Amino acid sequence: MENKTTHTILLIWTHLCRFVLAGLFLFSGFVKAVDPPGFTYKIQDYLAAFGVAGWFPFFFPLFVAIFVSAIEFCIGVFLFFGIRKHLSVTLALLLMLFMTPFTLYLAIANPVSDCGCFGDAWILTNWQTFWKNVCLLIAAVTLFRWRKLMVRFISRKSEWLVSMYTLIFIFFLSFYCLRYLPILDFRPYRIGTDIRQAMAIPEGARPAVVETVFILEKEGKRQEFTLENYPYADSSWQFVDRKDVVLEKGYEPPIHDFSLTETQTGEDITDLVLTDPGYSFLLVVHRVERADDSRIDLINEIYDYSLEHGYGFYALTSSPDEEIESWRDRTGAEYLFCRVDDITLKTIIRANPGLLLIRDGVILRKWSNARIPDEYVLHDKLENLELGQLEVPRDASTIGKVFFWFVIPLLLVLVADFFFIKRRDSGKEEDTYHINPLITNKMRKNIVAGNWKMNKTLQEGIELATSLNEALAGETPKCDVVICTPFIHLASVTPVVDAEKIGVGAENCADKEAGAYTGEVSAAMVASTGARYVILGHSERRAYYGETVEILREKVKLALANGLTPIFCIGEVLEEREAGKQNEVVFGQLASVYSLSPEDFSKIVLAYEPVWAIGTGKTATSAQAQEIHAYIRSTIAEKYGQEIADTTSILYGGSCNASNAAELFANPDVDGGLIGGASLKVADFKAIIDAF
Ligand code: PEP
Repeated sequence: MENKTTHTILLIWTHLCRFVLAGLFLFSGFVKAVDPPGFTYKIQDYLAAFGVAGWFPFFFPLFVAIFVSAIEFCIGVFLFFGIRKHLSVTLALLLMLFMTPFTLYLAIANPVSDCGCFGDAWILTNWQTFWKNVCLLIAAVTLFRWRKLMVRFISRKSEWLVSMYTLIFIFFLSFYCLRYLPILDFRPYRIGTDIRQAMAIPEGARPAVVETVFILEKEGKRQEFTLENYPYADSSWQFVDRKDVVLEKGYEPPIHDFSLTETQTGEDITDLVLTDPGYSFLLVVHRVERADDSRIDLINEIYDYSLEHGYGFYALTSSPDEEIESWRDRTGAEYLFCRVDDITLKTIIRANPGLLLIRDGVILRKWSNARIPDEYVLHDKLENLELGQLEVPRDASTIGKVFFWFVIPLLLVLVADFFFIKRRDSGKEEDTYHINPLITNKMRKNIVAGNWKMNKTLQEGIELATSLNEALAGETPKCDVVICTPFIHLASVTPVVDAEKIGVGAENCADKEAGAYTGEVSAAMVASTGARYVILGHSERRAYYGETVEILREKVKLALANGLTPIFCIGEVLEEREAGKQNEVVFGQLASVYSLSPEDFSKIVLAYEPVWAIGTGKTATSAQAQEIHAYIRSTIAEKYGQEIADTTSILYGGSCNASNAAELFANPDVDGGLIGGASLKVADFKAIIDAF
């Protein structure tokens, strides 16, 4: 009972971890995919902060941005649906193992102001990010350890559909937002923003003291200037960059860095532009040297259109003068250039170039380079066009569209999977629906096998087998039933049982093929009785008859060669358990079967039988059994791969009886039992079979 409760708590905890991780990975991948340039800038910040920006090709940050968001989103979806468990859980763990110490370093050293893990949608401080990651790491470790408990919502047959659709969706979203601007804008320069209002400091609030610093260069020497000592008179200083330095912290309005300085006169025209009651176009080219000039004709046309109708047109950049000149030469640009902080420009619009339409300081529209309006759209004065009106952002409708294009198709797959695949395959073990992993999460057989040992005369044995056969007549056991009898019973017992329902096996076979081995019974002889199984490596045979790893290796080979299924027993003695060496011991014993080919290995059944529990009335606790069964399965996975590990039945043996069987079999890695004493009475044995 206690173990059952522990198991239920573990199940709930694992699923809590699963959904929290899934939710956060989904959110984090989605908000990054919505804004690939934003995450690209963040990666560039990281590379610059670590002084390695020059090590990578220019496309590297964007590539990483798109790739990471896709991975995060896929992990989220896979965890949510419980598909590709090994991959998603391992990736989640690896990511958290990297991110947790990394964000600790960020929190201590502060090389970047925020880690950017949720894009601009949810900005956390570096310490908040670190603590969040500690929680997620705990969740990832939990999930990695107990991933088998994860309930699967969709069958294996349909999981590829979910995986493919998720990948296509997330890449499409990233490329769409990269080309046409983020579909959700979390930054302070959203459409509809009144820039002046967003810059205002509420009455009584103490503003931060910020100083603009200009970095200029002359004869290869760089120097920083403020507005006070700016060398206006000396034109030989070339502009390189500008930055805002916070001298004193205070209230920071949503927009605090919007300032336009005319490049030729050095005049601050921020107020002039923001208070203009007419329309103004702001062409944002944050670095002209890297801007896409493929649609420059359209931009020049809009400039002409602005002149014609008396609208403002300003190009905003952070590039130095010579780059602006080169842009003018290249594109024939005649418009006015204003210098603006680079980060501000990247925040205003995620395109280079990108275009804004403002009136009276309010952002009315934004266009990426790919969507710059042409003469057909601008066929009249803005006052007469819908384009000249505020385009109210409709986040709810955008989220609705995302829901429609992502969630609805997946729901349809889920429903189709439930009604067509699951129903069609119900009853087929290999595609069992994993609604309750404790009971049904099996791609392997559940088996209850009896080991009669040296009990029962021939007549008693026939009677026992006959009675068991009768007890199971008209029933469909939820597991395979096997009885392993002394050699002399085999030929007489096989004909009295229904072979469809009860398999018969021997308790041993010789390690030699045939010949002068007085008293031995070969695997071929066992098979000739109609028996299909053979117990090998039982602890009593290891202890009393000196069966070694090598002898057992031969027996297993001969059993398989004669078409028998070995039920191969392993287990530690009490002293070994007390010394905590059980894993080591069973691993050593498995050497007899770990030399088999994958094909042969997949034909055997394992039985973990702690020697201290055999015939003693002491049982391993459910948790002890699960723990070592999971360990055994993990060694199979290492040796033969996950698929074979998942399909190998591992039985528990050792004082298993009617009252403890259900609890033991409820463990995800316990696939039935090898039953000694309790297999000698039909009622007891049947009750154990019924535990499934
Ligand atoms: C056995 O000998 O395989 C065994 C499990 O015995 P018991 O169930 O009697 O402990």
